[in-house]
Amino acid sequence: TLPKARQPELKTTLPGPKTQAIMERDAQHLSTSYMRPYPFVPDHGKGVWLTDVDGNTMLDFFAGIAVSTTGHAHPHVVKAVQEQVTKFSHVCLTDYPQEITTSLAERLVKHVEKPGEKWRVFFGNSGAEAVEAAIKLARNHTGRTHVISTLGSFHGRTYGAITLTGSKTKYKRGFGPLLPNVTHVPYPNPFRPPLGSTSEACGQAVIDHIESLFVGVIPADEVAAIIIEPMQGEGGYIVPPADFLPKLRALCDKYGIVLIFDEVQAGMGRSGKMFSFQHFDVQPDIITLAKGIASGLPISAMLAKESVMTWPVGSHGSTFGGNPVAAAAAHATLDLLEGEVGHPGCGESLMDNAASVGTYIMDELRKMQAEFPFLGDVRGAGLFIGLEFVKPDGSPDGKLRDRASMAMFERGLLNLDCGEAVIRISPPLILTREEAETGLKIMREALASL
Ligand code: PMP
Repeated sequence: TLPKARQPELKTTLPGPKTQAIMERDAQHLSTSYMRPYPFVPDHGKGVWLTDVDGNTMLDFFAGIAVSTTGHAHPHVVKAVQEQVTKFSHVCLTDYPQEITTSLAERLVKHVEKPGEKWRVFFGNSGAEAVEAAIKLARNHTGRTHVISTLGSFHGRTYGAITLTGSKTKYKRGFGPLLPNVTHVPYPNPFRPPLGSTSEACGQAVIDHIESLFVGVIPADEVAAIIIEPMQGEGGYIVPPADFLPKLRALCDKYGIVLIFDEVQAGMGRSGKMFSFQHFDVQPDIITLAKGIASGLPISAMLAKESVMTWPVGSHGSTFGGNPVAAAAAHATLDLLEGEVGHPGCGESLMDNAASVGTYIMDELRKMQAEFPFLGDVRGAGLFIGLEFVKPDGSPDGKLRDRASMAMFERGLLNLDCGEAVIRISPPLILTREEAETGLKIMREALASL
């Protein structure tokens, strides 16, 4: 009953001949490191829909890995980009200020500053660059070298960032030596509590574990930073217990350690709040942002308290960082996230929409758990949702997850795995309730086919 323009016919005769031909050329000429989970070659997009080169239209529950906040080709974003590109596309923020990036910084810090606290912004082009900037700043500021990160984490693929990354070994094998003085500790996953603990106590258990390292393994006064995803992304879309991040803050305060929250995947409204840490009563010292900032244009940001951003003039920079065209897209994205500009069917703001549509999807998936016992866990916040597949004994079932992912794709739903046995649901934040229903219908059919 929905208007055709917003709810197109899903066609799933995949892969078509043009898709196949491009995939063959891609396999000939592009980096051998690229993954191709299923045959899809985009041609154009509109809203939450992507059409491939053969004319198959898919519902996008993946958003280019949690990037396309405002969907595809949002008219407000397109207009902002067009206007800026006709003015200038590059001068170099390292050497000259540009108003569009200055005002973007002012807008971003408004979402984090508390009374009496001032923050500053460094702009890069990718998540990994924001993470590199964060580690460099924390080391430079503290004069200490050690960094603590978490198992299951993902922080990027440059040398510093892969060292911090604590998930798959394929990211590290054959690339060493990596950065020295990095230690990984468990992430408090309530569904699979680490350190022999329980769902409720796993946050405290991780805190105790870190403190035990300070007694026997790493001198606390050599630790520059702890970096953590307030909600873990690539590791399986995991939400920590409510007490954990405030306790981590207290631990950092006790030992003079800089607390870095990597919000690259869960930030920018995806969780239903601007930053995912805002679901907890906690304030970090540094925040890294990328992915969702500019609806797909490459820009990243490292936000830091002014008291921490003490590195000297000229000590860090990036030729393209804070690019004005990407900054224009970021402004337009923020207009929609904050509700300054509305989007049909999405309530007051995209942030509110993410919260309400996300809750609806999670409620519906939890109902499906009764029907499909292999759905071990449904978790998340807003449109940052993880669906974990389990074997009858409760252990992760990655093979079944892979089959489910393909079955969803074949029925017209773009989706992406994460963790050992999780499908992440990370659609554009313009997803309406009706579009969510369509996605859930496809998921149910796909799950029933297993
Ligand atoms: N941090 C987090 C939490 C991420 O999810 C990612 C990307 N998946 C990165 C950093 C790295 O971002 P990029 O790929 O843009 O370098």
